Amino acid sequence: MKLEGSVIFKKLPRDEHSRSLQTTISVEGLTRVFGKDPEKTLKLRNTGRSKEEIYEETKEILALYNVSFEVMPGEIFVLMGLSGSGKSTLLRCINRLIEPTSGRILIGGEDIVGMNQDELREIRRRKLGMIFQSFALLPHRTVLDNVAFGLEIQGIPEEERYRRGEELLRMVGLGEHGASMPSQLSGGMKQRVGLARALAGDPEILLMDEAFSALDPLIRREMQDELLDLQQRLNRTIIFVTHDLDEALKLGDRIALMRDGEVVQIGTPEEILANPGDAYVEQFVAGVDMTKVLSASDVMRRPEPVARCTAGSRVALHLMEEHDIGSVFVVDRERRLKGIVTLDDTLEAVRAGRGLEEIVITDVPTVAPDASLTDIISLIAESPYPMAVVDDDSRLQGLVFRGAILGALARKRGDVDEST
Ligand code: ADP
Ligand code: MG
Repeated sequence: MKLEGSVIFKKLPRDEHSRSLQTTISVEGLTRVFGKDPEKTLKLRNTGRSKEEIYEETKEILALYNVSFEVMPGEIFVLMGLSGSGKSTLLRCINRLIEPTSGRILIGGEDIVGMNQDELREIRRRKLGMIFQSFALLPHRTVLDNVAFGLEIQGIPEEERYRRGEELLRMVGLGEHGASMPSQLSGGMKQRVGLARALAGDPEILLMDEAFSALDPLIRREMQDELLDLQQRLNRTIIFVTHDLDEALKLGDRIALMRDGEVVQIGTPEEILANPGDAYVEQFVAGVDMTKVLSASDVMRRPEPVARCTAGSRVALHLMEEHDIGSVFVVDRERRLKGIVTLDDTLEAVRAGRGLEEIVITDVPTVAPDASLTDIISLIAESPYPMAVVDDDSRLQGLVFRGAILGALARKRGDVDEST
């Protein structure tokens, strides 16, 4: 199946201009109290009482308080926070499975808080797809039926239902499993069915609540990759709930950090890591594996010195002596990487009157600027040379030295040890 040419699944336009014009979802001052007397609860909140103190006094739960944010078309917006911080309540307000106590929720400019049941059903059907942690598949129906179920409710004829269902299953890598029963599938496969089912109505917006949290770490990472891949092709707007920072950093274009029903910080992954808004965020960030977050371009140095391959072995020798190094990278006129020459080989070449092209070692590992430190560390461990960072055109962008990686990790963790 060719996804780009699919008639069923439109790839929504990725237009930077329309982004700034209209948000897909705007949440404005959203509050939700679980309890009989929200007014009293809110009064207490206004006098500065915490969620916990309010609960002590009234037994009411301030699950969300004055939450505001905007989600742009095509964005993966992550809601992150500890268990009980209000993520699920917030997500369920957005499709109004939970009624807000106050505030507005605009979807495509329409406030859904005032909508009646018919209007709501229409919005849910046309615009929203939902995926939960528990797969919630119908146990006595086949995988294909599970995917096509939503379409059945919408009165779409059987033939088209199944055609779409099968296309969706292929899209999530389950093309062969339409006739299986849910109980025959692994957890990862079940969640693929959940994803296909959510996409069945061709929704503009996907709401995902801890969708991958029940999966084994390996399968979980695979599903994350797949979601990113799918998003690349379909360009939906996604609100993704997770309590896992690594997952949030990997998936999120932006992340909203929640605590006790309030949003404490919104930013890109880089912003959140670089400037944690408060101690709560810092605590979250302290647990991050920096090797996954930093990339080659964060730790590389200017590629100096380098030898032009036209320059000859004498010049290369001179560079190495001057900089007291045992090898030097060789580039062409356009700074495209040709390889590396060693001091020994160069000495030999000078003596024999040979050029650099005869001694250049072309089999050197390289990485792209966005390669993660995890990738670099394993490569650099096996290579006697610094790591060359090259762009798509093989142009040399920078060099990564072992010490720079260790230094960057130490600095980011905040325990700088200058001796490394
Ligand atoms: P999260 O998804 O971040 O773990 P939730 O949104 O499920 O958090 O819960 C937020 C708060 O609201 C918690 O304190 C939780 O106990 C409370 N809560 C959630 N649902 C209900 C409910 N139906 N009735 C009463 N309290 C609830
Ligand atoms: Mg939850």
